[in-house]
Order: sequence, then C-alpha cells, then structure tokens
Amino acid sequence: MSRILIIEDEESIAELEKDYLELSGFEVDIETDGLAGLERALKEDYDLYILDLMLPGVDGYEICRQIREGRDVPVLMVSARKDDIDKIRGLGLGADDYITKPFSPSELVARVKAHLARYERLVASGAPKNDVIEIRGLRIDKTARRVWVNGEERQFTAKEFDLLTFLAEHPDRVFRKDELFREIWNMESYGDIATVTVHIKKIREKIEFDTSKPQYIETIWGVGYRFKM
Ligand code: CA
Repeated sequence: MSRILIIEDEESIAELEKDYLELSGFEVDIETDGLAGLERALKEDYDLYILDLMLPGVDGYEICRQIREGRDVPVLMVSARKDDIDKIRGLGLGADDYITKPFSPSELVARVKAHLARYERLVASGAPKNDVIEIRGLRIDKTARRVWVNGEERQFTAKEFDLLTFLAEHPDRVFRKDELFREIWNMESYGDIATVTVHIKKIREKIEFDTSKPQYIETIWGVGYRFKM
C-alpha cells in the first residue's frame, strides 16, 4: 500500500484529500504545520508528498527543496493562487506536479495514481538507468536525448541538445564561442560562430523562465558562456 503525506494547514481540505485518497486504497498522514511536516517528511518513508505552498513555520517551497535533496519520489504542490504556481515553476524546485485550489478530489486522486504508477514503472523496470543530469528543475536524459523543464518536456534539435548537454556537464566553466563551435560542430572554428549565439538563444527560450535573466546559461560578456551550477 502506498503511503502519502499531506502537509496542509487548512484542515478541512486536508481531511477531504485524505478521505478520497483512503477510498482509493492509500495510507495517508496529515501534518498541518510546516516545520512538523518537514520533519516527518524527512524522517519517515513516503511514496508521495502533497504540499500546500503557504504553511505556518516552513513553507512548501522549502519543504519541496529538502525532500528533493534526499529522495526520488513524486511531490505534488498545491496552491490557491495561479500566480504562485507560475512562480514555483520558475524556481525549478523539481516538483512533479502543480495543482491550483480549488480542485476536485477525484482530479487529485487521478494525478496521484498517475505519478505513483510512473515511479513504480521506473523502479520495477530494473532496466539500466538512463544517464540523467538534473539541475534545479532542468532534467536532461542523455540516454533518451530528452529534456524536461519542471516536468514539462521541451523539444530540442540535435545540436541544441548537444550544446545544452555539453554546457550542463561542465558547469561553472566559461567557454568561448569558438570553443563551443569546435566542440559541438566538430570543425575547426572557421565557421560562423554566430551559430553558437543563435543556438544559445533558442536553448534559453526553451529552458529559461525569463530569458533576460537566465538561470542556467549565463553570458560572460566578451568571453562566452557559462552554465550556472
Ligand atoms: Ca495554506
């Protein structure tokens, strides 16, 4: 039986979620305080977490971050405000899903089941694990050559993928455009290094929340680019 921890300070909502999840066969615990919730989340083993964003003590952002540091289980974040959902996506906390209140309990149950099934498939497959790079909400699966930003898949061309992966594999290092050109296009850099600029722009449009304030790929003026760790 899968165990779920709900951290939610509105008790009526927490109880409603619990009732529906229990009807679907889940074992559910509730914490209504952020600090107590965080402690329990880290101390006990759960298969999935449902976190409210605004909580007394410690908020949902911080709880999500700390769960993510140590565990690879689904985290669903709940908020009353659509704005907050956009903000948490932008922060790249690595939550698996975001739900805006009010939501129907059956929708919540459906999402919980879908996330648990996905994680169980990953574990049960026993297949050799894909080579994955994960940095603040950005997930690059090198084996499958797929990229997700806060759980949403983005499409990349082959060269965009190679360039992003190369930078992410060498964080905190500045590369000149001609170095990147040589690395990715496998040619001496007689070619047009503006190609690199164009590709970086396209990558940023796909991974950055705000391309004018890049969280991942920084421009080092007069030199090149650096992937922020
Ligand atoms: Ca709340």
